[in-house]
Amino acid sequence: MKTILLTGAAGFIGSNFLRYLYYKYPHYSFIVLDALTYSGSEDNLPNRGQDPRIEFWHGNVQNPDIVDNLVAKADVVVHFAAESHVTRSIYDNLDFFKTDVIGTQVVTNTVLKHRDHIDRFIHISTSEVYGTAAGATMNETHPLNPMSPYAAAKCGADRLVYSYQQTYDIPAVVVRPFNNYGPYQHLEKLIPRLITSSLLQEPLTIHGEGKAARDYLFVQDHCAALDKILHIDRDKVIGEVINLGSGNSITVLELAQLIGNMIVGDNYELRFIGDRPGQVLRHTCDSSKALKLLNWQPQIPLREGLERTIEWYRENTSWWQRQLNFRQIPVISNDGKQEMH
Ligand code: NAD
Repeated sequence: MKTILLTGAAGFIGSNFLRYLYYKYPHYSFIVLDALTYSGSEDNLPNRGQDPRIEFWHGNVQNPDIVDNLVAKADVVVHFAAESHVTRSIYDNLDFFKTDVIGTQVVTNTVLKHRDHIDRFIHISTSEVYGTAAGATMNETHPLNPMSPYAAAKCGADRLVYSYQQTYDIPAVVVRPFNNYGPYQHLEKLIPRLITSSLLQEPLTIHGEGKAARDYLFVQDHCAALDKILHIDRDKVIGEVINLGSGNSITVLELAQLIGNMIVGDNYELRFIGDRPGQVLRHTCDSSKALKLLNWQPQIPLREGLERTIEWYRENTSWWQRQLNFRQIPVISNDGKQEMH
């Protein structure tokens, strides 16, 4: 029997992980703390959160009293809550620093206060902290060169958690997932945008020449890794930083062509716009540490993950149609031109 506090579990990855644990461990109970920003929804929770095993709290991770009440009841804390969209952070970054840095400081301070009964604290960081890959693949020792306000805020949070682990010996693990995709991802992110634009027979928008390359991890594989981190002998993971990625990268252009082709055959249209300022050129994960520590490797190849994701977006149009207005954000490029990204 465990009680797991998940912050941000009304969002994409958190809700997938909650669903994963909810069905796999019927004897566990869950506390969800989520501010339900534009990117979170109760509709993402299993059974819409209407189950005594899920205690849902609508609240902000920056509020020490709320966080304290909830951490007091938990055995494990998994901290997903964040402002998570790179492009939005170029447009307006205040909430990124408030939630991603100050929110993490509040959660981490509270874990410190309750460390006598917190078995482990899993902090969800991101591969964005690394910036562009310096070599063929990136392991956990790659320099931290965040290239967007989002990445800088997450980098601050990542190092904050690490410093508390070193200073106060809190039971923290820092996870650095590479780009995730799968069901319940907000339309502002690349893969859901390409899928839904293809379903709507709209042109597929590409930044720059589409040469930026990313490592895509199907969210179910991410959940399987977190499950291992949650259950493995804690001495193996506490104090560690762990990359989670597929080890393969694909350019934005190749991804658009692949998704367009899978949905509309040869009839897709590409629309090229200016590049995103602070664009990371390439991310490719070295996840050999996760293999060694956790015996984890991703199981779902990109094409299969995309088929499953496309199927989900085909079947859940009412879920994503209400997000159509959030797809575009005004970005001013370095030559002063404003464009909708
Ligand atoms: P998301 O935007 O879908 O979900 C974020 C959730 O956090 C939402 O439910 C939102 O309401 C909630 N939230 C935001 N501000 C809050 C606050 N102040 N208090 C409480 N709740 C708040 O994001 P996601 O894609 O599910 O990402 C989850 C985590 O994983 C984030 O920490 C993100 O940085 C990290 N991450 C994401 C990816 C990816 O590809 N999506 C990759 C690496 C790391």
